[in-house]
Amino acid sequence: MAKRQALALVAHDEKKDDLVRFARRHRKRLAGYDLYATGTTGSRINAALPELAVTALKSGPLGGDQQIGALIAEGRISGLIFFIDPLTPMPHDVDVKALTRLAVLYDIPMALNARTAELIIGDPARRDGKRGGKAKT
Ligand code: PGA
Repeated sequence: MAKRQALALVAHDEKKDDLVRFARRHRKRLAGYDLYATGTTGSRINAALPELAVTALKSGPLGGDQQIGALIAEGRISGLIFFIDPLTPMPHDVDVKALTRLAVLYDIPMALNARTAELIIGDPARRDGKRGGKAKT
């Protein structure tokens, strides 16, 4: 049996509701992946969608971003969905930068918003550039 691909999911606090909504909207596709997330993001998704069985690592500011970076460096993650908050300064900004740097270094598809995330998980309505109506994040 082919090994399932793994996706990493991270959302900053102001974006967690958006990521939970995204996961709910795409739960069937996401169910085809092994899912890893930073601590609070993973707990939020597991509470809303327990069937996705997300592996929640440490909270981002406590090392979770770095844990995901380590998984990328080990070749265990095939895509990163990272809903960043562009408006709030973060104490762990260096970790965020390190994580996105590793995703670039290891050439991992990385989505920083919902539209790009839909391309990564292969939503056909997005792949051909069609807008599915009003943006629903
Ligand atoms: P969290 O971490 O899911 O534990 O909140 C996300 C982050 O801020 O990197």
